[in-house]
Formats: sequence, C-alpha cells, structure tokens
Amino acid sequence: MFLTDDHLHTSFSFDGKAQPEAVCRAAIERGLSEITLTDHMDIFSDKPYTYILDCDRWYVTMKELAEKYGNELRVHVGIELGQPQCNPGEARAFLEKYPLDFIIGSVHNMENDIDVFDYDFKALDYRQVYANYVRWLKELALGYDFDIMGHVTYPSRYIYAQTGVKADVMALREQFAEIFKILIESGRGIELNLSGLARGQGDTMPEGDLLRLYRECGGEIITLGSDAHVAEQVGSVAARGQELLKAAGFKYITYFEGRKPQFVKI
Ligand SMILES: [Zn+2]
Ligand SMILES: [Zn+2]
Repeated sequence: MFLTDDHLHTSFSFDGKAQPEAVCRAAIERGLSEITLTDHMDIFSDKPYTYILDCDRWYVTMKELAEKYGNELRVHVGIELGQPQCNPGEARAFLEKYPLDFIIGSVHNMENDIDVFDYDFKALDYRQVYANYVRWLKELALGYDFDIMGHVTYPSRYIYAQTGVKADVMALREQFAEIFKILIESGRGIELNLSGLARGQGDTMPEGDLLRLYRECGGEIITLGSDAHVAEQVGSVAARGQELLKAAGFKYITYFEGRKPQFVKI
C-alpha cells in the first residue's frame, strides 16, 4: 500500500513538538512511502511573514531532509498557508522567496486575526460563525494561490470540543458545493484531514457527507493528512484514510511534487 501523509507539523511550527528529523524517521518506521512537511505560515494583518516562522533556517532544513531521506521515503516540502487574505502582499512575498512542492490553503484566523480555536462557542451561535467561516473559505478559493484547501470544516473541531455538539455542516451544503466547484474548475482540491481520528472529535474534516458531496461535485484531487504535531501521530491513520476515500468513491489519492498533482491508485 502506497501510504502518504501530507499535512505534518514540525518544531518549526509554533505548536509543533516533533523535531523535523524525527518526523521523517517516524514515517519510515510506519512504512509510509511519501510525506510532505507542512509547517505553519499564518498570515497576520499587521505582521511580516517572518513573524511566524524562522524562514531561512526552516527552508534549508527541509531541503536537507528531502535529500537525506530520498532513498527511503519521498519527502516533499510544503507549507500550510493560513488566511493569506489578511495580508496578501506578505503571503505573495513568502511564496515568491521559497519555492515549494505543495501549498495547503487554510483559514484559522478570521476578523481581528482571531483563531477560531479561541472562539467561545458556549456563548456564540455556531451557525453564524460557520456561515462566516465559509465566506472566508470562498474568498480564499477565489483569490489566492494554493493547491488544496485544508480542513474545510475546521470550526467543527472546536464546536465539538467546547460544547459536545456535532456541527450540522450539511446545512451549508450549497455554500460548500460552490467552493468545491471553484477549486475543481481551477485544478485544485481539498484534503481529508484525519486529525480527528487520532485525537479530538473522532471525525474527519470534512465529515463523511461533505466528503461525498465533494466527490459528487466532481472532486478528484484529494490529499490525506494526519495534521500531526508530534512524531507518534505521523501516518498513524494513513491506511484508514485511504479506506475512507475508497468508500466515498475515490479512485486515487493525490500528493504534490513541484506544485503538480501526482495520482496513486487506491
Ligand atoms: Zn490548520
Ligand atoms: Zn495543520
């Protein structure tokens, strides 16, 4: 089985605990064939891109690892680019300076650079927050450079963690279908984020019904990612992820090399 994990954080991420080398070794021990290291580049409205990442040291380290482990494991260098719309010039400057294999476009922070993680869902109407979140996703899809959209149901994780409620994401079915079509028509895709299977809400992002909607819209480009922040989680649910994709009607998994999708039959 050609196992992949294309959403991985290392200690270069503010919330990452694993040394980059430990991530590669964990992937080899788990029998993975391919990984992409995707540390955080969150864009803030009032800060330079260097605020969040030690860019030069990060880039050199990533390139060295890709070279060093090339015989045992395909190591690609990517980034999780958060909300570039908050400061498009900074996002562009970063991407121009550091050529990558793969870009995950995510929304973590919304108005006033506040992460959805910090929202108080016990006090807020989650439906309103979600409706706003999908507007941010649509703006991201329409105007910014990336390959796949990350964890499209990111608020679900925190709604569940704080209130125990499984968000009704299918209430936003039309909005999601519109976003999926924008991505598909521009040769991009989404990820199946598996972090919830290894920890947290016990569900994938997107959840099953929404994953099938992406397929029904004609979506074929889909990557798998554990979103691991510690070495033990690297690739831990990679095989399960492929089974879920198969069950949802996908014929291929995707990974990216030099920003080009590579398809592997499942
Ligand atoms: Zn993320
Ligand atoms: Zn992530």
